[in-house]
Amino acid sequence: MKKMDFKIATLPGDGIGPEVIEQTIAVLNKIGTMFGHTFNYTELLVGGSAIDATEEPLPQLTIDTCLASDSVLLGAVGGPKWDNLPGDKRPEKALLGLRGALGLYANIRPAVLHKALKDACPLRSDIVGDGIDICVVRELTGGMYFGDRGRTTGEMGEAAYDTECYSITEVERISRIAFEIARKRNKKVMSVDKANVLESSRLWRSVVINVAKDYPDVELDHMYVDNAAMQLIRDPHQFDVIVTTNMFGDILSDEASMVTGSIGMLPSASLGKGTLGMYEPIHGSAPDIAGQDKANPIATILSAAMMLRYSFGLEQEAVAIEEAVTKVLDQQFRTGDIMSAGMQLIGTKEMGQRILAAL
Ligand code: NAD
Repeated sequence: MKKMDFKIATLPGDGIGPEVIEQTIAVLNKIGTMFGHTFNYTELLVGGSAIDATEEPLPQLTIDTCLASDSVLLGAVGGPKWDNLPGDKRPEKALLGLRGALGLYANIRPAVLHKALKDACPLRSDIVGDGIDICVVRELTGGMYFGDRGRTTGEMGEAAYDTECYSITEVERISRIAFEIARKRNKKVMSVDKANVLESSRLWRSVVINVAKDYPDVELDHMYVDNAAMQLIRDPHQFDVIVTTNMFGDILSDEASMVTGSIGMLPSASLGKGTLGMYEPIHGSAPDIAGQDKANPIATILSAAMMLRYSFGLEQEAVAIEEAVTKVLDQQFRTGDIMSAGMQLIGTKEMGQRILAAL
């Protein structure tokens, strides 16, 4: 086995961020001991805690240190204390800033429903079957959220517009990420667009078809976004990897998350060129439960598993974490957010310790 050293920038942030990051570092350290790797952490300021210390949500030192690291592990940012600050001074501004500074153009959101949590899923049990496992790959730095926009006056009076524009290069690079991920999963890519109406979608579709030629082992299909929204509820098992635009991905990844039932369980990764990635739970800083040992650390722990897989190429180590999480759920331990009748309620720290013990 090859032993390796990695530099990880940790950004605990606000609210429950520091609590879930603490448990995640403990899990990573155990993986390091088991497999002979060394993880070196540098803790950095981001979000509200950075505003308090430096008056900036994203200090330059944080950006520079992230860029010099092998990967970034983020907790969550934001909270009522900073809610009244102007838009560009708010904690959440740091997330967009980090993605831009690190050149992260792909957002990877697996939506996994564990068999043990079937009851948390709002879908009928015959639809859920033995669980759900979908991965949404969303383009993150293009499309309508970054296109030309403005106000104008037309025949009907005052109007506003936003522009959806994608270049071949942007579609090519996000498609490649989707195909590479599919290769490590069930080898199916569903490209979601609106090619029956939008010219940008017609370009999107033709580029994805071209890229697919380099991945003959992966099956490619296409679906219009309105149908995809419906099919996710009707039969989620037909999907493996979904690749789509920034706006469609924003909506579909939330829908896919909802299907899995708990926000405290879902990890995410943002990737760009090279292996540097940013890994974070999809949930926010949960100020309502911060500091009470109630937060579910699993979303962040699973984000670290994604880090091992996508940034460090340590598949076996990633699987070890995922299997430990499944084992603890099978042992019926639950934090409050995923609690159901007959299960054993535990706190953040104990959940971390149980996962360590299951490794
Ligand atoms: P939230 O995700 O923080 O919380 C929503 C609900 O889910 C709350 O009831 C919370 O207690 C619960 N919850 C979330 N994560 C949990 C976990 N790990 N374990 C148990 N329960 C959990 O969303 P919100 O309340 O809309 O936002 C709170 C703050 O977080 C805001 O300032 C918001 O801007 C910020 N936010 C940050 C991010 C991020 O850092 N990526 C994402 C979303 C929201």
